[in-house]
Amino acid sequence: MSSDRKLIIFDMDGVLVDVVSSWVWVHQHFGVNNDESLEAYLRGEIDDMEFMRRDIALWRKQDPYLSKGYIVEVLKEVPLMKGCRECLETLKEKGHLTAVVSGGLRPLVEHIGEQYFDWIMVNDVEEGLTGEGILEVPLNDKGRPFEEVIKKARVSERDTVAVGNSFIDVPMLEQAGIGIAFNPNDEEVCSAADVVIKEKDLRKILEHI
Ligand SMILES: [Mg+2]
Repeated sequence: MSSDRKLIIFDMDGVLVDVVSSWVWVHQHFGVNNDESLEAYLRGEIDDMEFMRRDIALWRKQDPYLSKGYIVEVLKEVPLMKGCRECLETLKEKGHLTAVVSGGLRPLVEHIGEQYFDWIMVNDVEEGLTGEGILEVPLNDKGRPFEEVIKKARVSERDTVAVGNSFIDVPMLEQAGIGIAFNPNDEEVCSAADVVIKEKDLRKILEHI
């Protein structure tokens, strides 16, 4: 029997916030783009650490004295997804557990509200902006952090709900009891999902939990 108490695991970028990527949001702020390193990453030529290193280098090239505090401020401008906080509040009121598993940047979780989440696994830039990233979620293996979270939460896979918007989220959606493709970016995520929600209002997921 499945339990009434569910663990809902959210991707962040494109789901909790209305931007495709928190890293790209910062790139746009500095007027740079990471197409080259993204392609190298997707071809398997560089790993997650090198990918983050190259992203941070792009920013520091624009501002050699850049601080992490500045990045935090830039991320405070990111628009939340419609219905985001209402959805998270409702889940808490109903006694569900929540987590965010995202390759996006940690300050953005603080902007949404860390208090809404029981577990947070995200990437970040080092304090002092040394040029190195902090890796918790490899983009090509979201299944691993997903498993770590459900282990910590002590719930079974069938009592989990995963919410994601892109092919990167497919491992989470496939493992979860219910996989929700929300605001989908590609066909892969839709095919892996039990439920597809195209309307950009996060409260729409509540009817499926
Ligand atoms: Mg996403």
